[in-house]
Amino acid sequence: MSQVSGLLRVGPKLTLADIDPASTPGLPGRKVVRRDPKAWARAELAELGAELARQQEMLFANAKKDRTFRHRVLLVLQAMDCGGKDGTIKKVAGTMNPQGLHIVGFGPPTPLELKHDFLWRIRKAVPSAGLVGVFNRSHYEDVLVVRVRKLVTKRVWLTRYPQINDFELELFESGVTLVKVMLHISYEEQRQRLLARLDDPTKHWKYNPDDVDNRAYWPAYQEAYQDALARCSTDHAPWYVVPADRKWYRDWAVAHLLLDAMSGLNLRYPAADFDPQRERARLEEGTR
Ligand code: ADP
Repeated sequence: MSQVSGLLRVGPKLTLADIDPASTPGLPGRKVVRRDPKAWARAELAELGAELARQQEMLFANAKKDRTFRHRVLLVLQAMDCGGKDGTIKKVAGTMNPQGLHIVGFGPPTPLELKHDFLWRIRKAVPSAGLVGVFNRSHYEDVLVVRVRKLVTKRVWLTRYPQINDFELELFESGVTLVKVMLHISYEEQRQRLLARLDDPTKHWKYNPDDVDNRAYWPAYQEAYQDALARCSTDHAPWYVVPADRKWYRDWAVAHLLLDAMSGLNLRYPAADFDPQRERARLEEGTR
């Protein structure tokens, strides 16, 4: 595990309020980094991205060649509005081959989804072997927005934490490597990002007046995040809090977290199930 993963990992004694959204845990203190951390992190992201792409290709290749291969990776992204989920997907998942990605966003449940238990739509979206899945929001909304906006009773949302832990254990045992990331922004940074959206007509499609109403619920959301992260960070499905006020740090850190999880699978390119020498000879014969 890299130092970054260790630093960002949520333990049972998490206090979200103690984590500074503008901080940069694990960023090297070397002079070259200090001089221009943003430029350094962006350059590093390019290298991390190349390695992510290689890991993803090995994952994909193993699933293609071996019908019993079960591994898949699932990055779960949660954040307050304007927290940077879309940007992270673009910058970090975007380093990998789109063919090997399975990206799913979760909005308010449809009438059909509401007729099922909250994990129904989630189960259907779990990536199959060989893929890297990304959840843009997830089953955690059912203990976040649902709790804060009182869409179900406390009794109901309280039972969901153990249900989530059981579900994620089931995923782990069926070959899913989970990387759960909360992009942690500050109240002020959210305001700045909403203002930036207003300032730029090409960003108006992203602006939702409801986001401003939601700001009144900020403390309740932080409390709900705190609970969800502390109760559902397990060895088989850890949570990470990534300080996300600085976009360059956010991308660099999430790339590290994903790469750590993927390199932990110790993947190799599958060995040839044919004799390359013999195949070469056959091809050369054909050219004569
Ligand atoms: P985003 O805001 O992530 O860009 P959308 O505009 O589709 O994407 O909004 C998603 C909305 O859906 C959020 O307001 C979120 O709180 C809501 N949502 C997601 N899951 C649930 C759920 N299980 N119950 C109620 N609301 C949900």
